[in-house]
Amino acid sequence: MADGQAAGQTILVVGGGISGLTTAVEAAEVGYHVLLVEKSPHFGGRVAQHNKYFPKLCSPTCGLEINYQRIKNNPRIRLMTLAEVENITGSAGAYTARIRQNPRFVNQKCTACGDCAKACQTEVANPYNFGLGKVKAIRHDHLMAFPSHYYMDPDFAATEEAQKLVAVCPVGAIEPGMQATVTEEKVASIVWATGWKPYDAEKIMPYGFGRFANVTTNMRFERMADKFGPTGGKITRPSDGKEAKNIAFIQCAGSRDHNYLPFCSRICCLASMKQATYVRSQYPDSKVTIYYIDLRAMDRYESFQKMVEADTEVRWIKSKPARIDEDPKTGNPIVVGENTLTGVRYEEPYDLVVLATGMEPNSATEAKVPMSDAQYDEYGFVVSGGGLFSSGCSSQPNDVSGSVQSSTASALRAIQTAVNAKG
Ligand SMILES: Cc1cc2nc3c(=O)[nH]c(=O)nc-3n(C[C@H](O)[C@H](O)[C@H](O)COP(=O)(O)OP(=O)(O)OC[C@H]3O[C@@H](n4cnc5c(N)ncnc54)[C@H](O)[C@@H]3O)c2cc1C
Repeated sequence: MADGQAAGQTILVVGGGISGLTTAVEAAEVGYHVLLVEKSPHFGGRVAQHNKYFPKLCSPTCGLEINYQRIKNNPRIRLMTLAEVENITGSAGAYTARIRQNPRFVNQKCTACGDCAKACQTEVANPYNFGLGKVKAIRHDHLMAFPSHYYMDPDFAATEEAQKLVAVCPVGAIEPGMQATVTEEKVASIVWATGWKPYDAEKIMPYGFGRFANVTTNMRFERMADKFGPTGGKITRPSDGKEAKNIAFIQCAGSRDHNYLPFCSRICCLASMKQATYVRSQYPDSKVTIYYIDLRAMDRYESFQKMVEADTEVRWIKSKPARIDEDPKTGNPIVVGENTLTGVRYEEPYDLVVLATGMEPNSATEAKVPMSDAQYDEYGFVVSGGGLFSSGCSSQPNDVSGSVQSSTASALRAIQTAVNAKG
């Protein structure tokens, strides 16, 4: 078995979502040293924000937790949170990566007892819930957050209130004066796993997201359906908090459209089918309508689609709605368009409309590989080459199982580069 002991044999994994976590454990468990760098305060990526997984409709927490246990039990994995790679030089087998670690303002003594958050008066819009609801300026994102240390918003760290919290912490974990550090690491190969962000629905002007309170997006809907989310899991209308029982999902919202996101994200149909089950199981007297161009539920997911189709209160309309209006009296969004199969025009009011927006690669914008010869495809996904390998949704839009498979493959390719470097 490889020992991977020399500094130059380390594999750098950038992004700690399900793809980066998988790559890290797979490489470390066969004997290689891994440095896993995550930009946010906690690991888990977008998966941690999901309420349930399709097709099993189980909680994503357990899949993530298994990976966290594997990491905790493996001394070969070094973790950095709140960290970003600023620059990479060198070539396959001998890279130097400059990494900036931003301050957490809470050190590793933190036991996540929550005394600081209880004492903290300052609240901010909750970024973890896409700005829905408020959270304390010192917090962790959710109960299962890993690492389970709290963190403080940088703006808040500079305040007098932050200083006062130092005395509140029973273990001396709060350090508002903590500074960023920059290190250089020698690594043999790099796996880029910075994932995706939801396509910005405000760009799809005809659908009124941002103008109409009761038009939301699929990722916000995930948070709303989560019992630890902004509504405690209750599916309600953002405008008035009333139960939302008549809900429309609009597929390909911005996707497969050269004006917005040109490609299919592969998972949006399945995500809406999953979310239809959230509605139907919460309110037995609810109705769901899914507007679609084509339904894409490939191979083993077909039985999942059939399960949702068996529910007669889920209606399917083949149509790309032209626009959404709002009834000013009720706040109901009104979906306007033409049924492609019947040619009949419709104008239908709903309690809530969910836009099934796609996945935009972070590597197209804020998570570009800081390396002069990095290659991208036409959409901004990272193309593997040299000692750089892309995995999960950095390489293409994918579900969790596809992301895990691609991450295992990337781990193997990164190991091969490390072995060749050593030989
Ligand atoms: C509405 C919706 C519902 C879905 N539901 C399901 C489902 O039920 N089942 C299923 O199989 N799939 C589902 N998916 C797909 C699933 O979310 C993806 O397959 C999964 O998130 C891919 O994981 P990833 O690690 O590749 O990317 P991400 O989850 O995006 O993780 C990327 C990580 O990289 C970090 N990062 C970003 N930039 C940097 C940087 N510069 N430096 C360091 N770190 C960085 C991020 O903070 C994040 O932690 C759904 C998708 C959507 C849109």
